[in-house]
Amino acid sequence: MALANCKRCGRLYNKINSFVESCTVCIKEDDEKFFQVRDYLQEQRRATMYEVSDATGVDVSLIIRFIREGRITTVDNPNLNFPCDSCGTPIQQDRYCKPCKDKLQKGLSSTREALRQPESTGKKHDYFHKRDR
Ligand SMILES: [Zn+2]
Ligand SMILES: [Zn+2]
Repeated sequence: MALANCKRCGRLYNKINSFVESCTVCIKEDDEKFFQVRDYLQEQRRATMYEVSDATGVDVSLIIRFIREGRITTVDNPNLNFPCDSCGTPIQQDRYCKPCKDKLQKGLSSTREALRQPESTGKKHDYFHKRDR
């Protein structure tokens, strides 16, 4: 273990691994804020980012981080969006909107495209399943 300065408050803390960039105090604070945001979103499904921030006192940037980390899903909250890092279009997940992502991925390998299969394999599976029995 190595000592490092917390990126948030500057306190010295034990850096357990390279993913942990804040001290335990800040992590705990984040957790409390996370629960506040999550609870609020469960009750106010049509809330916007700024309404959530106002009501919970949690920074918009932190809420966005929760979403990007996958801790908060925006599936049930259609008005919860934030600007694309590149063009500013409102998005609900990741860093970039679809067109920007496409642009960024151009030139990269097309393996990702290959993974995006149409959702038509379910029936086939079912069919084979029945035949097996
Ligand atoms: Zn800290
Ligand atoms: Zn964009």
